[in-house]
Amino acid sequence: MFSKILIANRGEIALRILRACKELGIATVAVHSTADANAMHVRLADESVCIGPHTARDSYLNIPSLMAACEITGADAVHPGYGFLSENARFAEILEAHKIAFIGPSSEHIRIMGDKIEAKQTAKRLGIPVVPGSEGGVTSATEAKRIAAEIGYPVLLKAAAGGGGRGMKVALNEGEIETAYSTARVEARNSFGDDTLYMEKYLQKPRHIEVQILGDGKGRAVHLGERDCSLQRRHQKVLEEAPSPALNAANRKKIGDICAKAMADMSYSGVGTIEFLYENGEFYFIEMNTRLQVEHPVTEMITGIDLVNEQIRIASGGDLGFTQDDITFEGHAIECRINAEHARTFVPSPGKITYYHPPGGLGVRVDSGVYQGYSIPPHYDSLIGKLIVHGRNRVECMMRLRRCLDEFVVDGIETTIPLFRELVDNQDIANGMYDIHWLEKYLADPVDI
Ligand code: ADP
Repeated sequence: MFSKILIANRGEIALRILRACKELGIATVAVHSTADANAMHVRLADESVCIGPHTARDSYLNIPSLMAACEITGADAVHPGYGFLSENARFAEILEAHKIAFIGPSSEHIRIMGDKIEAKQTAKRLGIPVVPGSEGGVTSATEAKRIAAEIGYPVLLKAAAGGGGRGMKVALNEGEIETAYSTARVEARNSFGDDTLYMEKYLQKPRHIEVQILGDGKGRAVHLGERDCSLQRRHQKVLEEAPSPALNAANRKKIGDICAKAMADMSYSGVGTIEFLYENGEFYFIEMNTRLQVEHPVTEMITGIDLVNEQIRIASGGDLGFTQDDITFEGHAIECRINAEHARTFVPSPGKITYYHPPGGLGVRVDSGVYQGYSIPPHYDSLIGKLIVHGRNRVECMMRLRRCLDEFVVDGIETTIPLFRELVDNQDIANGMYDIHWLEKYLADPVDI
C-alpha cells in the first residue's frame, strides 16, 4: 500500500479523496494555488504545497510544479481527481517514469479513450454498441454530406478531442452541414487545440445512461450498475440518479455484463465510466471516462462500495475485493450538483459565504469543501458541492431530497439550490420521465413543459 498520496486537485473532490486516504491510514499532501490557500482540503491534509498562482495553467495543470511537490514531500502516489490532469496520458507517463504511481488506468488506456474516434473504434471491437456514424474522422464538409446521406439526418459533428460538451454542432439537413462543420472545427481548435471532427447520428430523445466499471488491470472487471444523467444543461450534467428510472433488471444486467467483459478483455485498471445514449430500448456508446466522475457518489450510495478506496487499492497492486455476484444494489440515490451560480441565469456567483447550514440525517451526504466564512474564488469551475440523498426506493429518495433542499442554507452567494427545489416538485421528474433535452426545454419555458 502507498504511504503518502499527493492529491492533484482542489475543491470537493480533493476533500473526498483525502477522506478515503485517511480511512486507509495513508498520509496526504494537498497542493494548491495561491487562491486556494484557505481551502478545507489544505487545512485537513498532513502537508500542503503551494504550486503556483491562481491561473490553473500555472498551478493545477503545471506538471513540473506537481513533480517538484512530489519530490519535496516524498509522495509515492498521485490521485488526479476529475478534470485538470486526470485524463492527461502524458502526466501519467511522467509519473510512471519517476516511479510514482498514478491512481488511474495505464497511460495507454487514457490515450486510447481520450481520442473519441479511437475510443469508439475500440468500443466497437470489444462488442460495445456504438452510435451510427463516421468510421473515423471527417475531413471536409463534402465528406460530411456524403456520410450524413448514408446515416440519415439529423447528424452531430463532434470534436475527437472533445470534452465538457464543447465542439459539438447539429445539422438538421444538408443545407446546415457547411456551417455546422466550420463552427465545430473552430470551436474544437479553440477549446482543444485539435480540430479533428467525427460524425454521429443525432439521437432526438435519448437518455444519458452510463455504466460504472472497476477493473484490476489483470483481466478481471466488474460493473457497479448505471447512473442516469439525462438532466443536462448545455450537455453538462445537473442531476444524476441511480438506478435509472428507464431500465429494468434485465437490460441493466445486459449492458453491465457487456461493459465488464470489455474492460476485462482490455485488462483495464481502476475505475472508469462507459457513457451511452439510450433510446427505444437500445444503448449507443458515446465515450469512456478513464477517471473518477463527479457523480460517483450515487453509485457508492446504492452499492456501499467506496470507489476511491478501490481506486487506491488497485493502483497499489491489490486485487478486486469482490466478484460481480457480491455486488448488490440497494434502494435509490440522487445527486444534485450545487453550483455557485444564479439558479436561472447561471451567471457565476463567487464570493464569501456568510452563513452555511448543510442538511443532515439518515441517507444524506454532502460532499463539499465550503464552510461558513469561506470565499469562493472566481477562477475555477462553479461546482461548490454535491447533495446526495439515498432512500429505500425512488419515492422515499425524492421526499428526502425535498426535505434536504429545504434545510440547505448557503447565504452570501447565489446557488443552484432553488432550481432543484423546483425540480423535485415537477411531475415529469417525479415520474422519471425526462430525456437529455428536458431541462433545456423546462428552463426556456418552465410552465409549458
Ligand atoms: P463530452 O465529452 O463533451 O461531454 P459526450 O460525447 O460525452 O461529450 O456528449 C455529451 C452530451 O452531448 C451527451 O450526454 C448528450 O447529451 C449529447 N450528445 C452526444 N452525442 C450525441 C448524439 N449522437 N446524439 C444526441 N446527443 C448527443
